[in-house]
Amino acid sequence: MSNRAARIMTVILLPMIVGSSGVQSIADQPKAGRWAIALHGGAGNRSREMDRDERESLERSLRGGLNAGKDILSSGGSSLDVVEAVVVMLEDDPQFNAGKGAVFNRVGAHELDASIMDGSTLRCGAVAGVKFVKNPIKAARLVMERSPHVLLAGEGADQFAIENGCERVTQDYFYTDRRFREMQDALAKQGLEPLAKPAYSIHPHDPPTSDKPALEGAGGTVGCVALDSRGHLAAATSTGGLTGKLPGRVGDTAICGAGNYANKNCAVSATGRGEQYIRHSIAAKVAWLMAERRLTVDEAVRHCLDEILKPGDGGMIALDRDGKVSMHATTAAMPRGFADSTGRFELAIWIDAQVSP
Ligand code: ASP
Repeated sequence: MSNRAARIMTVILLPMIVGSSGVQSIADQPKAGRWAIALHGGAGNRSREMDRDERESLERSLRGGLNAGKDILSSGGSSLDVVEAVVVMLEDDPQFNAGKGAVFNRVGAHELDASIMDGSTLRCGAVAGVKFVKNPIKAARLVMERSPHVLLAGEGADQFAIENGCERVTQDYFYTDRRFREMQDALAKQGLEPLAKPAYSIHPHDPPTSDKPALEGAGGTVGCVALDSRGHLAAATSTGGLTGKLPGRVGDTAICGAGNYANKNCAVSATGRGEQYIRHSIAAKVAWLMAERRLTVDEAVRHCLDEILKPGDGGMIALDRDGKVSMHATTAAMPRGFADSTGRFELAIWIDAQVSP
């Protein structure tokens, strides 16, 4: 073989050879041009009795989020912009426990958590316990991009977000009758005195209207993961937390590595009992299992849900850098959707209606 031919062979073969020792091989490179998006609307034990209007409305919202994400990704937009835009849409939708429609804490107020992460740079931003920001996910992105920190909490977080251009709302903006009833039910189950009214006065156009019982265990945290055509992954998650939580409680959604995580190999958004996801650093564990134990994204998600967390703790959506998706929960339901550049477009609500990996 001539010297030139040998050099060419080295250039071609070397990446494949080092690949077998753990360094990326050519086959490991993300496939250019491929994009994918997954979203969820919270793990919970929604009853199958959910009426038709409610189911259709939920599906419409999931479809709307997927379509919006698809449009951005198919025209070359970044995964970071997509996850933020989709989570903003879901925060504005009162069906979900994020932004408008957030649950009540024990004293009848709303405290919201959100975080966002850019997998290609490991930059992340989060807010915890914000009360006056219409879209906490926007505040999380601003923390990432305009502060030297990764997490701001409470008053300081509200102040930072508003000073940096986030829309300010009063607490009554978050009010929904359904969430108020859920909180009353939760307090009664804990043997606590029900609250006569929220911790703020309700806007006259939003008085309690429904006598429908609260949905059993309705979830509603929202999250989105995306892979863009440059091979970059991102994750965003937003929540009002747990119904009847103590004031000041911070859940996994605000904790990078617990309820939200992205790196070069995967993007994860979690939902469920936040304390459990924090204890076990679940979102980062999915990434670790993929990198260190060489599990697929689906194996890593299932391992966390089935072997580390307890049945009923919640669910997760995750994408790998080839656009493979995993969406599972150990609750009865987790409204979710997936779309990609091969034309897949799938929605499901209950867990036994599987979206195949
Ligand atoms: N993980 C959220 C929290 O603990 C709640 C949820 O996803 O339903 O704050």
